Order: sequence, then structure tokens, then C-alpha cells
Amino acid sequence: MKVIVVGSSHGGFETVRGILAEHPETEIQWYEKGDFLSFLSCGMQLYLEGVVKDVNSVSYATPEGMRAAGVHVFVEQEITKVDSAAHKVHVVNHADGSERDEDYDKLVLSVGAVPAVLPVEGHDLKNIYGMRGRDWAIKLKAKTVDPDVKNVVVIGAGYIGIEAAEVFAKAGKHVTVIDILPRLLNLYLDEEFTEILTDEMLGHDIYPATGQTVKRFEGHDGKVTNVITNQGEYPADLVIQAAGIKANTDFLKDVIELDDHGLIKIDDYLQTSEKDIYAVGDATLVPFAPTGQNNRVALATNARRQGRVAAKNIFGAKKIMPSVSGSSALSVFQYHFASTGVKAGTSDKLGIETKSILVQDTVQPKFVSMDDKNAKVWFKLTYAPSDGRVLGAQILSKRDVTANINVISLAIQQKLKVTDLAYADFFFQPGFDRPWNIINIAAQKAVAQLE
Ligand code: FAD
Repeated sequence: MKVIVVGSSHGGFETVRGILAEHPETEIQWYEKGDFLSFLSCGMQLYLEGVVKDVNSVSYATPEGMRAAGVHVFVEQEITKVDSAAHKVHVVNHADGSERDEDYDKLVLSVGAVPAVLPVEGHDLKNIYGMRGRDWAIKLKAKTVDPDVKNVVVIGAGYIGIEAAEVFAKAGKHVTVIDILPRLLNLYLDEEFTEILTDEMLGHDIYPATGQTVKRFEGHDGKVTNVITNQGEYPADLVIQAAGIKANTDFLKDVIELDDHGLIKIDDYLQTSEKDIYAVGDATLVPFAPTGQNNRVALATNARRQGRVAAKNIFGAKKIMPSVSGSSALSVFQYHFASTGVKAGTSDKLGIETKSILVQDTVQPKFVSMDDKNAKVWFKLTYAPSDGRVLGAQILSKRDVTANINVISLAIQQKLKVTDLAYADFFFQPGFDRPWNIINIAAQKAVAQLE
């Protein structure tokens, strides 16, 4: 069997790895149009902040390593056309300008996405950057140490925008974060949490300009100088656009079915509208556990799971992609937060009625001093008022207690109810936590609300 995998990021890598693990005899051709294999955008902040020194180490596969494992790796080679009837792809080799066709038995597309460009006047000025992939990582790194860059404007207050803001604030720049939504991290956390994080960011020279729409970019000598919104004007030596992504699917328009956003339509088994063509990653939708509907959740975790499932299904397995809840975590200066499932910022859009309980506590028993690593913790549990089904949760603390959210993610996927969590068996050791885990406490309060 000959399998062609397109895209070398999370989804492509996991597909290749899955095939190697279970069907090592397969002829695998793996294509990446960029000049670097498997760059890990998730590690970009660590590189930009200098924690990781070498940009080329922010990767999980090398061409040499994968070739040694028997994979035919093609870097700087782009798939520009797919002929599904003939089972052929057209390859453009950007290194030497040559072109050729390759046939396949199965094709797996993990073509991902690029940062969306705001369609406003001035969008093509210099110093308007994205934050995704190795090329942007190198350009952004240079700007962190550029003395001419004093004012940075980040557009988009999701986790990528907040990572960018923190990088440049730590580099000594004055940072403004613009978002159309009313709060920073609006889609990840409810107000009780974002209030704390917004204060934390203000204390580090990051200024929110939320509830505002970007109208245009102004410039001088071809370089951006200002961002104009419907409410203000923000000086900018550098703009980072982190307001959504655009799927790399233009070349697939007449080949497979795409939705209105250009995302590839797939079935439960990750097969596209065409036989023998599968798709995974950010260019697809994933089954969202709280609603049972397909949803756009652009996370490496999802691409990885899909890659594994695709690697099985191309060999005839009938594995359904498990549902996911959009679990993610981030540090914002001293704080660590994580969230999963439905929040106030997303429940209306999803058309779900929810009820929540917020618990504020200390991580360890009160007798452990706050000077001795004990810390405040905020935890919010969201559930369905009709039957108590767990729908989401958020956690925030200066101690890293983010892993609790994985429990809730599993609870959502397994359709557990708050009654299941109220007395669930979680460990206690005063060095770590309290006799009742904060999940127990929140669930007990939720049960009381329901009674
Ligand atoms: P992409 O990562 O978009 O990669 C697609 C690849 O395919 C690219 O390399 C592209 O060049 C190549 N390609 C596209 N078209 C073609 C073609 N026609 N021919 C050949 N090659 C092609 N997720 C998390 O779960 N946790 C995190 O902490 C996290 N942090 C992030 C931080 C940042 C700054 C960013 C930008 C993203 C982060 N993500 C995180 C999201 C995660 O990076 C994406 O969900 C994941 O990379 C999606 O993988 P993918 O395979 O769909 O595609």
C-alpha cells in the first residue's frame, strides 16, 4: 500500500507515526511545503522567551530520523492538485522548480491553517506579522530585541494572542491587545477569571482594548505605525495578528467537499467526501463532547488523536474519532489556568443552557502557609440544569493545578453528571491538596443547587 501524507505538523506527524507503528511495511510519502519538517508552534513562546535557545529544536521529527525509519520525506515540496478519480497528486518541488505526479492508494491531508489576515486597509504594510510556524518564529524573535520596536499591538485575545502579548511584555515592550469580544480570553474563561488575569497583565504593561473592531492600519514609508479601531488609535511598531486562522484548502476546492469556512468535511471515520482521501487537524472539525455536534477546535491534541485514528482507518479499521472538549492550559505571568468544554463566553453561541458553581479555596489546607507554596485557587464547574450533566470547567491558581481539568474533560466525554463527581475518589495529601478535592466540592455544591 502506498500512502501519501500531506503536512508535517501534528496531524501529519501522528498519522505517519501511527502507520509506522502498525503497518511498517507501508510505502509512506510525507510532504511538507515549507523548508522545515514538523515545527511545533506550541513551543514558540518558549523559544521567543529564550527558554529554548535553538529554533530548530522546536520540532518532533527530523528528515534524517524519519528517513531512517523508512519514510520517504519530501521537504519544500507542495501538493498543488489532487485528482481523486485517478488517485494522483501533483507535486511542485520549490527547491529545484521541478514538477511531477505521484499516485496513491490512500491520501491523508493534514494541511492545517495560517493566521487569518484582517481584510482592512493597510493589511499589507510591513511589520504586520502572524504567530505560527518557524518562519514567523524567527521574524518575531528578531523583533523582541529590536530597539525600534517600542509599541506592539496584538490583534486577538485568545491563547495565541496572549502568548504573543506576554512574550513582548517580557521583552520590555508596551503591548496593547485588541479584540472584538468584551474580555481578554473571552472564549476560554469566564469573567471571574479574566478579571484576575487582566489585572495581572496590566501590571506587566499589557493593555486590553476589548470590545473594539479594527478598521484599518496606518503606515509611513510602507511600515505600520498605527492601528485604528472603531474606538481608538493605537501606535504600533509591530502588529501581531492572532485573530483566527484560515485553512490551507484552496487547492482542494473542486476536489473534496469544504464548508463555508473552507474546512474539509469529514465523516466520523475522518474520511472526506472522496473515497481513499482522509483529513485531520486544524483544517477539519472535531466532534465536540458537550454538544455532540462537530465544532472547530484548533488544537494539537485533536490533530494528534485524529492522526492516530486516520492511520488505523486507512487500513480498513472502523474507528470513530472520539469526542473532545477543547481542553487547553496556559500560564499568564504568575498564574496558570486551564479550561475545558462550555463557558459563559461560548454557551450562547452553542445554544446550550448552563448553570455554574464557582468555588474559591486554597490549594492546600489552611494550616499550610501561603508563603510555603500554598495558594488561592478558583474553580468553576458548568453543568446542564436539566439533568446535572457536566459540560465544562475552568481553574486558575498561582500553583499549577491545571491537570484537574483533564478529569473534567473525561467526565464530559463520558457524559458524567455532577452527582458522579460529588463523591468521586480523589487522593488527599496535605502536601498537594485538601481532603475534598476542589472538583468534589464544586460538584457537591452543584448537586445542592439541583435539589
Ligand atoms: P498545521 O500545524 O497548520 O500544519 C500544516 C502543515 O502542512 C504546515 O507545515 C504546512 O506548511 C503544510 N502544508 C499545508 N498545505 C500543504 C501542501 N499543499 N503541501 C505540502 N505541505 C502543506 N495546540 C495545543 O494543543 N496546545 C498548545 O499549547 C498549542 N499552542 C499553540 C501555540 C501557537 C503559537 C499556535 C500557532 C498554535 C498552538 N496550538 C496548540 C495549536 C496547534 O499548533 C495546531 O492545532 C496544530 O499545529 C494543527 O496541526 P495540523 O497538522 O492541523 O496543521
